[in-house]
Amino acid sequence: MSLERFGKAWEAKFGEAPKRNVPLAPYTTIGIGGPADALVEAKTTDQLIEALRLARQFDLSYTILGGGSNVLIRDAGIRGLVIVNRCKRIEVDGTTVKAESGAPFAGLARKTIRLGLRGLEWGVSIPGTVGGAVVGNAGAYGGDVASVLKRAEVLSPDIKRESWNRERFSFGYRTSYLKEAWKRGEKWLVLSVEFELKKGDKESLEAKAAEYLEHRRRTQPKEPSMGSTFKNPPGDYAGRLIDRAGLKGKRAGNAQISTVHANFIVNLGGATASEVEKLMEIARNEVFRQFGIDLEPEVLILGG
Ligand SMILES: Cc1cc2nc3c(=O)[nH]c(=O)nc-3n(C[C@H](O)[C@H](O)[C@H](O)COP(=O)(O)OP(=O)(O)OC[C@H]3O[C@@H](n4cnc5c(N)ncnc54)[C@H](O)[C@@H]3O)c2cc1C
Repeated sequence: MSLERFGKAWEAKFGEAPKRNVPLAPYTTIGIGGPADALVEAKTTDQLIEALRLARQFDLSYTILGGGSNVLIRDAGIRGLVIVNRCKRIEVDGTTVKAESGAPFAGLARKTIRLGLRGLEWGVSIPGTVGGAVVGNAGAYGGDVASVLKRAEVLSPDIKRESWNRERFSFGYRTSYLKEAWKRGEKWLVLSVEFELKKGDKESLEAKAAEYLEHRRRTQPKEPSMGSTFKNPPGDYAGRLIDRAGLKGKRAGNAQISTVHANFIVNLGGATASEVEKLMEIARNEVFRQFGIDLEPEVLILGG
């Protein structure tokens, strides 16, 4: 009922009905996920806010997807509405770069390099959107979002726009206030982000980015994945522990613990979310049994 009311209101406003029963696998980097009851793609910040406002008004449960590169969507899919964030505008003013939250993060990083700005060059290898990167405090090669984010505009669960400084995000290793809040069902949304960068030398930034990409090609699997499945425990690497537990190459159906990097679970073609979850459970149990370390998932599991 609430879906119908949402659909009518959305169509009246934007001239297009939400899509129904949409398989979500194509919206994720691992290519896995059952259907969403309904799905809309927000191309402007106004549309994004309106989607949330209407969902709230009609008591419809909703989930935001950026690039789907850090989530595992269960085989039964997601009930209610999935909002895919396609808001991509980027503005540059000196060393300040403001990006809408649906902008591809790697594309933003490449743009800043072309402009001779330093601070986001590590981001060339990170799939997904700016919003997703903020939520998980994405990072690589010694850089992370927390080091360059100056302010961000967020939408509160009761649909109020707020401007947050860096401290307000309580960034930690691959986490933020927002990521922990989503786990509790408290849905904050990143609308846009202001990064403070430094002037740099374009050629050396380009060389660094090429080096990072080459390192990725050598050390990460080519098959579809969600990136790192687990966070690295303090002082160690999840990949090393899973490898030492003898699990490299372990399969469940068409999901496999990568033979290249044991913290990646790859989809060999047609894998299901339950197969991936099974491998996650095996890795977690074995590492705990053999080394007494409880690995914490980095990926968020959505749906049910
Ligand atoms: C091959 C590969 C390599 C990777 N390497 C790295 C790496 O080196 N370092 C690293 O940190 N990560 C890495 N990742 C993980 C992933 O790319 C990052 O976590 C990325 O920032 C997620 O962004 P996303 O848009 O895909 O988020 P999604 O997967 O779409 O969403 C992640 C979570 O954030 C929420 N969310 C998304 N957008 C918003 C928003 N605007 N406001 C509020 N909540 C939102 C979603 O609801 C979901 O709960 C890798 C992934 C892959 C596939």
